[in-house]
Amino acid sequence: MPEDLRIGHGFDVHRFATGRKLILAGVEIPHGKGLVGHSDADVLLHAVMNALLGAMSEGDIGVHFPDSDPAYKGIPSTELLRRVLMLLRRRRFRVLSLDVTLVAERPKLAPFYGRMKKNLAAQMKLDAGRISVKAATAEGLGAIGAAKGIAATAVVLLGKRRSTR
Ligand code: MG
Repeated sequence: MPEDLRIGHGFDVHRFATGRKLILAGVEIPHGKGLVGHSDADVLLHAVMNALLGAMSEGDIGVHFPDSDPAYKGIPSTELLRRVLMLLRRRRFRVLSLDVTLVAERPKLAPFYGRMKKNLAAQMKLDAGRISVKAATAEGLGAIGAAKGIAATAVVLLGKRRSTR
């Protein structure tokens, strides 16, 4: 019997500020400024988590990890992803593929695709060939185009094991 398939889509955006580290997929990227947020503001992982939760019809990361809760202040997003993946396993889902697009005018992200993919593969226990990380610029248009922040979108395909009766 074919696996029960679910698609999820996630989006997030964070603005830049000085005095912050730029963390994407858990990888620290040298840029001289970083993204602002209640957690470490890893916009890539936030989009990935929103996609995973979306595919499970489980709301979004704001519902699961409210930024009004001091427990999540400064928390690494890798830890939040670990919790989302625990929920995924409890619900008998597995990740089949993940495709991420970052939208950033600066810095150049292509040199970091490999490390970001490797980190995601390790954390999600997923073959790197099932993961894609890529980026586009905004061609100078709007706030992202003015390099005021970074946006990320993610699409994920989940499979759910059917219960045996
Ligand atoms: Mg966020």
